[in-house]
Amino acid sequence: MDLPSHILWTYILERVVISNSVNSSPKFVLTSLFFAALPDILESTPFIVYLALHRKKYGLKNFKSIFSFVIDITHNKQDEYDTNFPWAAKISFYTHSFLMSTVFALLLLNFSKWLFFSFLVGYGFHLLADVFLHKDYFSSRPFYPLNNFSIHGFVTWYKIKNFSRYNYGLLLITYFIILWLK
Ligand SMILES: [Zn+2]
Repeated sequence: MDLPSHILWTYILERVVISNSVNSSPKFVLTSLFFAALPDILESTPFIVYLALHRKKYGLKNFKSIFSFVIDITHNKQDEYDTNFPWAAKISFYTHSFLMSTVFALLLLNFSKWLFFSFLVGYGFHLLADVFLHKDYFSSRPFYPLNNFSIHGFVTWYKIKNFSRYNYGLLLITYFIILWLK
């Protein structure tokens, strides 16, 4: 799923499953929504910065062309991505590893309980959603870097025609229902 969708679905999950926390702590909600976006922010930022620094080499003129390059190579040319930018691919697997996030969650638990809980909800739900929505190169590797065992999801979201249209349509309907039931 794209980044905004991860955030929007996480908020719905929270409204439905843990409405008490949502109502009582805006801080919790904002932090967990940030955590919902974090796996993909951590994944793509180093790659975008690298391309910005080497834009001449790859014939990239502006931010828009860098962004298109990232989308194209990660969605449509994954062999090329794996060959030319193996380090970037590794970052993807690290940031989407259940093992790594569990280690980080336990570290957070030492600092604060609510931070741990918001990480669990936001980051955890992102990783879980990705498990179902990738059956390609980016299939979830839950135990990375210990091993490369991967779970093949039901679909790869960007290979589904009109996925975003259906997804945002569903989001819109769900938000109407939530606001209506309020
Ligand atoms: Zn992701």
